[in-house]
Amino acid sequence: MMDLHVHSVYSDGSASVEEIARKAKERGLKAIAIVDHSLEHKKGVTEEKLRRRQVEIETARDRYDLEILSGVECGILPDGDIALPNFDFDIVVASIHDILSTREYYHRIKECLRKNGDKIDVLGHLHSEMFNCGRDFSQDVEIIDLLIECDVALEINSLHRAPPIDFLEMCSNKSVKYSVGSDAHTLDRVGDVKWCFEMARRFLKGGKFILSQLL
Ligand SMILES: [Zn+2]
Ligand SMILES: [Zn+2]
Repeated sequence: MMDLHVHSVYSDGSASVEEIARKAKERGLKAIAIVDHSLEHKKGVTEEKLRRRQVEIETARDRYDLEILSGVECGILPDGDIALPNFDFDIVVASIHDILSTREYYHRIKECLRKNGDKIDVLGHLHSEMFNCGRDFSQDVEIIDLLIECDVALEINSLHRAPPIDFLEMCSNKSVKYSVGSDAHTLDRVGDVKWCFEMARRFLKGGKFILSQLL
């Protein structure tokens, strides 16, 4: 099992890197990604915070013999822009954190993939229940094609229960790369990814897991 979406005290999570790593090890995870919110978030990382976090990640990696990816979750801003710190990340997630009109929602996501597809690894919690922006099925198809074209993974997120089943069904005959994440902000949810792997098994057989080399 792997959990590639965990928040630490370096953004709005309540647990330290050390505590998250220990919990992940206890729960038998092989890899985790600490993806704190980025510069646009009021509690997000700064380059200075990232340097401190990196030291903790490396210490915990050695102590627990666990793969810990150093990541960030960028909000998707107007016109698909992202605020990405100048830092050498292992994984970059981009997600919408606003309630938008359906038109604006799709505009931001498609522009983000077109403009920043080479900088991001994962599209986070698409069509989250928490940020309900409506749906347009023809543009869903465009998103799926852009994900494949830009080699960006679709995240299956157990906190947001996203993407919804009907979206996953649309991916089932295509080779969409995927990632999995609990979006844990507290220690008790670290590794809560059973639902994610279940969805991947059911709907994303044609796609590859983003860290398939570690499975
Ligand atoms: Zn998010
Ligand atoms: Zn998150």
